[in-house]
Amino acid sequence: MNIYGMTLDELSSYFENLGEKKFKAVQVYDWLYKKRVNSFQEMSNIKKELVSKLENDFSLEKPVIITRQNGKDVHKYLLKLKDGNYIEAVLMHHDYGNSLCVSTQVGCNMGCAFCESGRLKKKRNLETAEMVSQILVIEADLHIRISHVVLMGIGEPFDNYDNVMKFINIINSGKGIDIGARHITVSTCGIVPKIREFADSQLQVNLAISLHAPNDKLRSQIMPINKAYKLKDIIDSVKYYIEKTNRRVTFEYIMLEGINDTKECALELANLLQGLTAYVNLIPYNETSHIKFKKTSNEQVMKFYDILKKNKIGVTVRREFGSSVSAACGQLRAKEEEK
Ligand code: SAH
Repeated sequence: MNIYGMTLDELSSYFENLGEKKFKAVQVYDWLYKKRVNSFQEMSNIKKELVSKLENDFSLEKPVIITRQNGKDVHKYLLKLKDGNYIEAVLMHHDYGNSLCVSTQVGCNMGCAFCESGRLKKKRNLETAEMVSQILVIEADLHIRISHVVLMGIGEPFDNYDNVMKFINIINSGKGIDIGARHITVSTCGIVPKIREFADSQLQVNLAISLHAPNDKLRSQIMPINKAYKLKDIIDSVKYYIEKTNRRVTFEYIMLEGINDTKECALELANLLQGLTAYVNLIPYNETSHIKFKKTSNEQVMKFYDILKKNKIGVTVRREFGSSVSAACGQLRAKEEEK
């Protein structure tokens, strides 16, 4: 078992079962996440026999950084996992803090037509520890603290639901990395039963839905998941989420030239979202060499934006970070795998 996959509660039970004080778990968390030691030997307030026991029962293994590409305010990482698989993570410097985009799976099965990650099918889910340690290795590499986490790297978080929920629990713990729930964002392509389950969990974490089209016909063409869960199901589950949590939802909308960026699409989108406590995040498409879609011009993006505004839909345009460092999710990994 990797220690970075243990919640504080689990670690407390572990010590209790050994006949030790539960509080030992808080001490170990402190060494791991506040002092950031890399071995049990360094945990000087833990007695020798217990250190040996911990060494026996847990590993402290983390992914290894293979490459780091630097752009303006952005660092893009290719990381190698213990079984030789690759994932990516992207660190972005914002004026409000440092945000890390983490991966949740090796590859992805959702098959969105515009997305590079999905060109390579899912090999496996990431373990909880492999998500937590993305934060740790990148903080150590750049000598920074990460204040915000977005689950928008490779993979579909709700296709790896249990590990993702545990990941959130661990990084949110005040005794550990201590990233506030409101600073964590989960992004899903729309796995409806999981959106409902997530609502029931009552977490104060942000939810973003990758919408990308205002009607089922178009959405099914670019996002196969729409054949399983229609827009109406998504909107209903979002309403349920808002009822349960009182939180505003973000709809992500990639602007694809000539596909979903027309005036008609904007009006249809405004109609679809009317009355919801939500806003739209328009995303400039990050073009990739293998995929035919083109990026909408800034001018057209602003026209689309204005139509939503006029129709009283909250809307923002996402700042672009990626293109200079091929940060479209999955591009680095795909290059490495194809070598
Ligand atoms: N599977 C999840 C999270 C990973 S994708 C989801 O679908 O939400 C994170 C976001 O990046 C999604 O909104 C996705 O549609 C978007 N995305 C994928 N490829 C992109 C590209 N080339 N340019 C811009 N955004 C992209």
